[in-house]
Amino acid sequence: METDLVASSKGKLVNFRMKELKDVLTKLGLPKQGKKQDLVDRIFHQLSDEGVARIIDDTYRKMQISEAADLAIMGQSGLDICNVKVEMEAEDSLNLGGKIFCPCGTSLPSESKIQCVDPRCLVQQHISCVIIPEKPMEEIRLLPPLFFCETCRIKRADPFWITVAHLVSPMKLVASNIPTDGTNPLQKAEAAFHLTKAHSDLLQNTEYDVQAWCILLNDKVSFRMQWPLHAELQVNGLLVRTVNRPGTQLLGSNGRDDGALITLYIGEGVNQISLSGCDARNFCFGVRLVKRRTVAQVLHFT
Ligand SMILES: [Zn+2]
Ligand SMILES: [Zn+2]
Repeated sequence: METDLVASSKGKLVNFRMKELKDVLTKLGLPKQGKKQDLVDRIFHQLSDEGVARIIDDTYRKMQISEAADLAIMGQSGLDICNVKVEMEAEDSLNLGGKIFCPCGTSLPSESKIQCVDPRCLVQQHISCVIIPEKPMEEIRLLPPLFFCETCRIKRADPFWITVAHLVSPMKLVASNIPTDGTNPLQKAEAAFHLTKAHSDLLQNTEYDVQAWCILLNDKVSFRMQWPLHAELQVNGLLVRTVNRPGTQLLGSNGRDDGALITLYIGEGVNQISLSGCDARNFCFGVRLVKRRTVAQVLHFT
């Protein structure tokens, strides 16, 4: 049986930068060479030991303190602390730890649930909604050891965008009817969202954009976007391009898709958005307000 301490350590580990990973390895007397993933794996193998979990917990707390200190220094040097505040609030705004927040849109407590390992999230979702077996009708035998909810996956899918707010919470694409001739079903998700004056003002700044995103629920690569085959995105009645590949080709040339920027198609007040695709797989779709990060910022934080 995995203890809570070990489970939460896994979540903390994935947030560590190289510095924290090396600190932990030093304390464990293990080699510090290799890529980030190698370091994570090396620590992972030791995780059954509760002492290791405690070292990780300790390192995580120190990292939070040093991040807070960094922000304070930025404030003193007259940098734009106001924007930082917006981001921190946004990070907290979906803090639904222990609550059910599922892309099916219901919060039925009776079903079996799985929890997101991100320690800042810890949201619970229905296993039957988010864990999709590779072949339909196949039983789910193994739950993933590290489960991330969709908002935590999208947060990590592209380091150049920070989530400021979720305008449309993750929702599943639903097929209206399953064709019996073996062709792919038509799936669709529709939503209306309200763009506030405050968010609309933020968008005057070129660093901010509104992004529609889509992920494959049981993607082998957790942290990437993926649009369904023949994706058709409509915003306020206008078609928005999602991918520049043939509708039948899976993923873009570099093995991932990008989000679609829809800033120019929306305005303050109520906006309508819909996504359809002709695909048999399970997708999750959402809209978020994002802030662009510079290369320097990305390097500093990883
Ligand atoms: Zn659900
Ligand atoms: Zn999460």
